[in-house]
This record gives sequence, structure tokens and C-alpha cells, in this order.
Amino acid sequence: MMETFISLTWSQDVEEGEAHVLVYTVTYLVAQLGKRLPFWFQFQAMPPIRPFGDWVILMMPQGSAYSSMDWYIKHSVTPDGRAVDGLAYLRLVEMEPWQSSTPHFDLALVGRDLNDAQGRSVLSVVRSGMAAVVSVHQLRRSFEKEERIVKLSHLVAHNFGRVVGIPLPGRKTGLQYVDEHSYCTHLCAMRPMMTLDDLVELSEQIRGRWGFYCDVCQSEMEAVFISKYYGMN
Ligand SMILES: [Zn+2]
Repeated sequence: MMETFISLTWSQDVEEGEAHVLVYTVTYLVAQLGKRLPFWFQFQAMPPIRPFGDWVILMMPQGSAYSSMDWYIKHSVTPDGRAVDGLAYLRLVEMEPWQSSTPHFDLALVGRDLNDAQGRSVLSVVRSGMAAVVSVHQLRRSFEKEERIVKLSHLVAHNFGRVVGIPLPGRKTGLQYVDEHSYCTHLCAMRPMMTLDDLVELSEQIRGRWGFYCDVCQSEMEAVFISKYYGMN
């Protein structure tokens, strides 16, 4: 069986420091899985993280379909070129030739503004259980260095959780639905995060706290990776 890996990509306009926050945050979150499940991970490999970054497949003709991150961006920007159309981007991810043959979670960071289906500026667009595209655009306009790093790590943790598919829809408590997406109501990075204000509020609440997720969400993430390993979903 093929191991589910975590693909991290970013567009050319993402700064080195921002890309580091993406990689370090996801690395930290995966390490937490290993800490909480030492017995299990003693025998199984940790989910591998592949930071492809601003990637290009050199074996493919330059500029051909699915051959680079740049191609994905070019084929999902809005007509004025200012924003990435989140759904258009996720459709490309969904259609990529290796999507079904190499199971993976996909988290992408872009520097441009990001639009949802209604053309509104958003922090991220997510296809639960598969992929998310996250924009640093709003954070750049509102925050300087350190604040931006802290808030970006919370934004990454939230969207990594959504890519993995937590909170699980079957949960009995602490679950809230907004626009058919499930969120956590605990003190947790999986609370609803529709706007920059939501992110700022959450960031204040969980700052200085150990970890990003509540116990329920953390356990659910572990369950997802274990079931992926055994091919149960
Ligand atoms: Zn939670």
C-alpha cells in the first residue's frame, strides 16, 4: 500500500520566511502525532512531509499542463491577475494525473489575494479531506514580522486540520456547521475561521497554549492517519 504523504507547495511570490512557517508548522503538527502515539509509530512510519515548494517537473516540456506550480497559478488566477480563484485552483489539484495513484494531502500557500466562489477575498479555500489553498495576502497587509508569523502558523494549523478532515462530521459534542463545513467549538485552531477578524480572535485565544488543537480534534487527526494507513477510507 502507498503511504499517504503531505504535499506542501507555494507560489513564487511567497517569501522565504512565510514558506518556513508553513513547513515548520506542519512538521510540528505531524511530530505531535508521533508523541501522542509513540507505540503505534514505533512500528509505522510517520506520515512523510514533502515540501515541494515552487516546484517544476523537469522531465515535462516547459509550460505543459500540470508541469509546475506556476502552471497551476497561471490557470487559476482571476482575469485581472490580482487574485487566485480558490475553486479553480482546487479543481486543478483534483484533476491532476497522479491524484488517485498517489494518495496525499495537499496544502498550498500563495502570495496573491484569494477569492472564493462568490469572488470575495478569503484566507483559504478548502476541499475537506484533500487539499487547501491559503493566502498570506490579508496577513501581509495587516501585520508585521512576528505577528504575521504567529498568525500564519495558526492559519496553517487550521487549514491543515481541514485538509485532513477534522473535526470529523460524526462527532457528538463541540461540533458546529457553517456553510456545510464542520468546525470545532472548543478552544482550538479548528474553530470557525471565515475572516481575518476570526483569525485574530482565535490567535489571541490559543496563543501561549501548548499545541494548536483541543484533545478531541488531536485524537481525530490521529484516527485519520491511522485509518489512512490501513486503507480504511
Ligand atoms: Zn478542536
